[in-house]
Amino acid sequence: MLTLPFAGPLDYLLPPRLADVRPGDIVSVPLGRRTETGVVWDATSRLPPEFTPPPQKEVATARLKPVAARLDLPPLPAQLRQFVDWVAAYTLSPPGMVLAMALRANALAPLPRPASGWVAAPALPADLRLTPTRRKVLDTAAEGPPLTTTELARRAGVGAAVIRGLAQAGALQAIEIAPPPPFSIPDPTHCPPVLEGDQAAVATELRARVAEDGFSITLLEGVTGSGKTEIYMEAIAACIAAGRQALVLLPEIALSAQWTGRFARRFGAEPALWHSDLGSRLRRVTWRAVADGTARVVVGARSALFLPFHQLGLIIVDEEHETAFKQEDGVTYHARDMAVVRARMSSAPVVLVSATPSLESLANVGAGRYRHLKLGARHGNASMPDVETLDMRADPPERGLFLSPVLTDAINDAIGRGEQAMLFLNRRGYAPLTLCRTCGHRMQCPNCTAWLVEHRARHILTCHHCGYDEPIPQTCPKCADADSLTPIGPGVERITEEARATFPDARILVMASDTLNGPAATAAAVERIARREIDLVIGTQIVAKGWHFPHLTLVGIVDADLGLGGGDLRASERTVQLLHQVAGRAGRAEAPGRVLLQSYVPDHPVMQALVSGDFASFMEQEAEQRRPGFWPPYGRLAALIVSAEMPDAADLTARALGQNAPRMDGVQVLGPAPAPLAILRGRHRFRLLLRARRNIAVQPIMREWLSRVKPERGARIDVDIDPVSFL
Ligand code: ADP
Ligand code: ZN
Repeated sequence: MLTLPFAGPLDYLLPPRLADVRPGDIVSVPLGRRTETGVVWDATSRLPPEFTPPPQKEVATARLKPVAARLDLPPLPAQLRQFVDWVAAYTLSPPGMVLAMALRANALAPLPRPASGWVAAPALPADLRLTPTRRKVLDTAAEGPPLTTTELARRAGVGAAVIRGLAQAGALQAIEIAPPPPFSIPDPTHCPPVLEGDQAAVATELRARVAEDGFSITLLEGVTGSGKTEIYMEAIAACIAAGRQALVLLPEIALSAQWTGRFARRFGAEPALWHSDLGSRLRRVTWRAVADGTARVVVGARSALFLPFHQLGLIIVDEEHETAFKQEDGVTYHARDMAVVRARMSSAPVVLVSATPSLESLANVGAGRYRHLKLGARHGNASMPDVETLDMRADPPERGLFLSPVLTDAINDAIGRGEQAMLFLNRRGYAPLTLCRTCGHRMQCPNCTAWLVEHRARHILTCHHCGYDEPIPQTCPKCADADSLTPIGPGVERITEEARATFPDARILVMASDTLNGPAATAAAVERIARREIDLVIGTQIVAKGWHFPHLTLVGIVDADLGLGGGDLRASERTVQLLHQVAGRAGRAEAPGRVLLQSYVPDHPVMQALVSGDFASFMEQEAEQRRPGFWPPYGRLAALIVSAEMPDAADLTARALGQNAPRMDGVQVLGPAPAPLAILRGRHRFRLLLRARRNIAVQPIMREWLSRVKPERGARIDVDIDPVSFL
């Protein structure tokens, strides 16, 4: 299998000198005039029949080319090969593109050669001319570990030439100095917590799952701060003690710094990290350490699912409800769902962790497919924060401002008591829309159906979809009126401006993905908050993550209604999950927390659920709305997204798909219709959505459907199984 978008593996001959090559071996092969790296694939796939892609044409043996070489790399384990086949078949992606995720090319580049050092030869050559300097070198070399030329010369107090002379004479031998193992083994007994209340029983259950050494799925649910992380670390401890490897998936790698610090305190060693920002050397070292089993615990983003685990004994998916687990470009897959598949193939337990589980996972609990473990209360003396809605119709902010006086008073009080406050707005930049007051012109992206977002600090208007930017114009591009362009609505930058004016003495920190440059910067910001150098944190969804800020007692949600629009199937569910997670940052230690939700629809079920904290009832209502129409999780969805630079090519292809749509019981096709993001990066887009009963496998239907339509020139059809985004 090559890491290229072919329909399946290609055939090659094995020359006699490579007769012992086996499936999984990594080899180089000729392809046209190039040399490609690939993996020797299994002759037969073990996929369920409805997933098996159609057979490919046989190539006559006489025309086959030979494999060029076997690379000096650990083979890709059978489980991982099977997983690659499965993900490709499930997502309708070329298997080579899935393999590419497992073989991130730079992970395979050779490691730097280990340094070599000198040791004394077992017997000195008979004709050796021994001078005092030479004797000093030989004595030093005899003392112990192999030393490099420079180091040996330094310790013996001689020049490097003496050493080269001894080597030439055969009195010194070069040997490779083995690098220290990159990851030390975490110690399960290093610093275990004292478990309290229902924690102990839940931890015992999880340890039992690990000890079973077989496939199982558990949903671990507990309010923020109840000790879920603490407890799944006990499952990890059991896994390490059993000699197996554990994988922890986090939705956002910016979170990993606090997580690894906590892990190190618990286990006395750092876990291996895996994410797209990893430096290339560390990437290579980590890939090999996972393959040879020396990396015992890996914490990473969704791509860590494709690492060549040697003996996987546990997978944890933390914040399992997070949509960040869905990869939207390239191979579109949901890492939570694929983690379950990976665990099944590895005969390992998987634990899905959340304070607000997805309806998908709850439905699986309801159907008896997942076990359910619950933690009732916050750990220690911490209680759940008190959540209130703030009716923006009754207590509106002053004209041109966005914070209600009720909220600003509460912030002043918290800061006055020496506590910390946080303002949350899930919108980057200064203002989401720029409008001409004279002619009504709205500043739009030239490449996308989207408004340009003002980023005042950078003096630009930018598109959050394609990255286009331009300087903020002085005059309206339509009517040429000067100084008529006005920002409409707030982003975090604008809220920060307002906060600086309202709380002039407060020490303010802004946390947004575009102001924090990577995990290190995020970790530094979190440190400052923990050291109480900050009074008020203002942030986008990055602050919602599982941070532990013990002195933070007040959270203000600037626009709680923001996520409710847009007609997305999961809009309400997602809003509850996100806002609950933000709210969960408040009052995690002794001092009680308070959360204020600014809303124009305080009676909305989402606001009511956040206030009452009764998510079970809210999710029941959600379930009742989705069940009758067979919407997920009670049915299956698959989306087709047609795009082309020429509007006609997209339109005609979409129509052809519509005309050829499958007609069968339990399956319905919606569309084609222009996508909400009708133009993205200059491409015109249409969507079709297939909805099927849960007992129908959509892959064969989709495959058949796609086989009947040839895209127009320049048009592309992207497949999104189980779509999360409907843009
Ligand atoms: P969650 O993952 O559910 O949000 P955490 O595991 O982060 O909860 O726990 C919240 C806080 O309480 C953390 O600071 C954690 O270290 C602490 N904690 C939880 N359980 C215990 C325990 N049994 N002993 C000591 N500290 C605990
Ligand atoms: Zn754009």
